[in-house]
Amino acid sequence: MPIALAFSTGDLAVLVGCQKGGYSARMTTITRFAPSPTGRLHVGNIRTALHNWMLARGSGGTFMLRIDDTDAARSKEEYVDAIRADLAWLGMEPDGEERQSERMDLYETAFEALKQAGRVYPAYETAQELELKRKIQLGRGLPPTYDRAAMAMSAEERAAKEAEGIAPHWRFALDHDEPITWEDGVRGTQKFDASQLSDPVIRRANGSWLYMLPSAVDDIEMGITDVLRGEDHVSNTAVQIQMFTALFAAQHKTQDLPRFAHTALLVGKEGKLSKRLGSLGCDAFREKDIGAQAIIALLARLGTSQPVEPIADLQTLLDTFDLSNFSRAPAKFDDAELERLNTALVHQMDYAEVADRLPEGIDEAGWHAIRPNLSTISEAAEWWALVTGPIELPEFSEEDRSYLAQAAVALTWGDDPWGTLTAALKDSTGRKGKALFLPLRQALTGMNHGPDMGELLPLIGEEKARGRLQRAAG
Ligand code: GLU
Repeated sequence: MPIALAFSTGDLAVLVGCQKGGYSARMTTITRFAPSPTGRLHVGNIRTALHNWMLARGSGGTFMLRIDDTDAARSKEEYVDAIRADLAWLGMEPDGEERQSERMDLYETAFEALKQAGRVYPAYETAQELELKRKIQLGRGLPPTYDRAAMAMSAEERAAKEAEGIAPHWRFALDHDEPITWEDGVRGTQKFDASQLSDPVIRRANGSWLYMLPSAVDDIEMGITDVLRGEDHVSNTAVQIQMFTALFAAQHKTQDLPRFAHTALLVGKEGKLSKRLGSLGCDAFREKDIGAQAIIALLARLGTSQPVEPIADLQTLLDTFDLSNFSRAPAKFDDAELERLNTALVHQMDYAEVADRLPEGIDEAGWHAIRPNLSTISEAAEWWALVTGPIELPEFSEEDRSYLAQAAVALTWGDDPWGTLTAALKDSTGRKGKALFLPLRQALTGMNHGPDMGELLPLIGEEKARGRLQRAAG
């Protein structure tokens, strides 16, 4: 008899429910993001995390982080920390976390139950033997599925292998008679013929676990209602659906299968799988001062029928997030699109949102003057330096110098010093357009372009402004 599991699905849902306070445990959507801590998160898995987070947030559900660290050799604690930090920076904090390395008892129990039920079997082939079989099958034009030679071994043959000191690895026996089908949230009806699939190796000879079984066990034990991941997992889902039903039967559980949805992969803007995207993550975004809002606005809609727009309001994104909007064609990631979104979002930001990221001295009026000129928040410092000075002046013509000398005299201070000054100079000098405005802008800021002078001049202040005009006048 399988030993009772540490806790049941219901327990976990209730536990999580208690933390979050008061929603119905059974009906809640529970999603999970399950990265392996063998590297930093990249834009592809950030997108998967976001989809799972949105699916949960949009329905008052629970978003779980599951650290897939069964591979002790490749998993690193620094990556676990980085994954948590990146999710926090993106504003996608999970409601709970599980680590596969702490759940080994569950996998052992499930494995024993499957063994009892005759759904796992030992296999003794070496990697070289398997490779040879594959080559022969391919040479004959056959699909390279595992031939189940180990399943056919007698007890004596197995004993003989063990006597030679060969420890087995373990395969899950697919049921060739059980049709595999599911309604995929993105791909529609999916059908697989189990006989076309290899019985997956689930456990290595040294006892360690491969991805397939622990993931299915956790999805059951954590009460995951929706498995939402990239389409590279479609054939894993086919196998895992049989694992689910085998585990339900072997462990006498009455539980629904989770819903499955597989999103098309993320590719570069040329439409190809991109190596660069595999290493593009939060550090690179931060370095370019791309904010989490822009990443979320882009990734929430990329590859869907909804337009990608600079939407700052999360609720709007949540309300329009729907798996049925996802396309089966690859989603194209374009850095320039992300940068454009970021810029448009910066232009919408209120002072309160950015105040703690601005250089000393920029107040609300300063932010409003500078904001339309920024493509990233960090550029605020450069523009603010025009206000605080010192500024570098260009060379002025004789004529402009005398114009600027007049300006220094004409400058008066009131509600709209720029409007007053330019109106006065227009009258007194007959200058208009560029000849009227550009030398003033150059003298007051050292630049040919920049923030609206009507907003900027009050920030520079009367004394400094007059000083700059006088200096420019020579
Ligand atoms: N650790 C697996 C991966 O990163 C999880 C896949 C899944 O979502 O089940 O590919």
